[in-house]
Amino acid sequence: MPAPFFVLDAPPRAVHFTRLICSLKNMRLSRPTRKAMPVSKEDSSMSDVHAGGCLCGAVLYTVSGPLRGVVYCHCTQCRRQTGHIYAATNVADDRIEIDGADNLTWYAASNLAHRGFCRICGSALFWKPDDGGHISIMAGTFDTPSGLESESHIFVADKGDYYEISDGLAQYAGPGPSSAASGR
Ligand SMILES: [Zn+2]
Ligand SMILES: [Zn+2]
Repeated sequence: MPAPFFVLDAPPRAVHFTRLICSLKNMRLSRPTRKAMPVSKEDSSMSDVHAGGCLCGAVLYTVSGPLRGVVYCHCTQCRRQTGHIYAATNVADDRIEIDGADNLTWYAASNLAHRGFCRICGSALFWKPDDGGHISIMAGTFDTPSGLESESHIFVADKGDYYEISDGLAQYAGPGPSSAASGR
């Protein structure tokens, strides 16, 4: 009898956020406001602020500064987690504030990174490499207008067989040039 599709080679490991607190220590976990952050005359980068959150609102975040273009990841792990493909921007850890971080569950789909999702509503929010100072944020979780622009497709060699990519963006069979120091 063939194995059910959900049996994985490695046992799933669900990691609660508190076990990641060391690697995420640079994140400021204070409660951000949903309103636009005040613009400092001394720091013009603070005027570029974007907010977002999960479906139920238990996890909210605010990001300051410019956002990398959205990278669409078609790898098997991203497809299984999201039900389709992963679409994410990426920022340095010190440019994001998370409100409700204790409502995140961090799942290690590989030995390279953890995937953060809301433990209440299941929304996929973050992808965090274990050895990096960056965090990927799911593009669809941003409030609009997000200011995001599409950039490229990665791991297209692993894409699903039920759709075609025809938007004219760059396509990479593997990780692509912008994902080495960033996300998916
Ligand atoms: Zn939620
Ligand atoms: Zn992926």
